[in-house]
Amino acid sequence: MAMAIGAVGADTAFGFDGFGDLSADSTYGQEIRLEVELEGSAPDELELLVRTPGDESSNVFPVEPSADGATYIWNTAANYVVPNTLVTYQWRAIDGDTVTLSEEATIRYEDDRAGLDWQEAELGEATVHWYGDAEGQARRFGELTAQGVTRGEELLGTELAGPVDVFVYDSREEFFGALGPGAREWTGAAAYPELRTIFMWLGGGSPSYLEIAMLHEVTHIVFNDATDNPFHEPARWLNEGIATWSETSEGSDERAIVAREAGGGGLFAFEAITEQFPIGERGGRLSYAQGTTMVDLIVDRYGEDAIAAVFAAIASSP
Ligand SMILES: [Zn+2]
Repeated sequence: MAMAIGAVGADTAFGFDGFGDLSADSTYGQEIRLEVELEGSAPDELELLVRTPGDESSNVFPVEPSADGATYIWNTAANYVVPNTLVTYQWRAIDGDTVTLSEEATIRYEDDRAGLDWQEAELGEATVHWYGDAEGQARRFGELTAQGVTRGEELLGTELAGPVDVFVYDSREEFFGALGPGAREWTGAAAYPELRTIFMWLGGGSPSYLEIAMLHEVTHIVFNDATDNPFHEPARWLNEGIATWSETSEGSDERAIVAREAGGGGLFAFEAITEQFPIGERGGRLSYAQGTTMVDLIVDRYGEDAIAAVFAAIASSP
């Protein structure tokens, strides 16, 4: 009897009693490490809830707790994560019938590889980040975000939904090391609209090419904000068509490609370039050209306001 009472008392005194401090750290290309302190004793079950921008719901990972804490290591060497991804996480303890949630916390997965002594400045619509001697180019890219965003907002009848980050890489190795295994080789620029992040490589082309690329990529972010709708993804040809058209606000080069291919190898059905573009030089180039030509034809025939009307319909239609 006395022993039973003692056991109950011990359980009460040493049961799970809530979360202590949460902490997180990351090393680019290796891991994101998430830790939590546990008050009292370990709960029966412990889970980590993790979400990144664009996830519709959290991913749940069971974690084995120790007596006073727990650690979850996300192996980013095996599972590539784009730098500048904001990771939102929360711990969940299940102890008997009681479910306890920790506060929600975030960690930004930064590209902290050796030798990248990042500096930053706010310019235009962006925070630009550079290292080494790239300050001049980085500042120019920042100014161009203002130009591209203003243009995109007018054309699509929308407003940028939040700030943009631009990361300027010097060497090819560092740039492709940031973009990960899926990156295509012919580009010197890439946008991740859900992360509101653009990566630029100074060796990707001439200064004028890179300026055009910057306008193109920032337009993708405005496009994403304009079409942010849980029901469907807008067509790829429209996304690339708008971004390419916005480089120069016209499409005569692309129209010439479409006219030539129409009399030669033939054109794609738009249904065929709604989700993915074909692999290969000709197919890729023609897909961009068809999207851009469609935008240019709409502007020519109905005026730029018609584009905003199309986007208002996309944003509100289920
Ligand atoms: Zn594009």
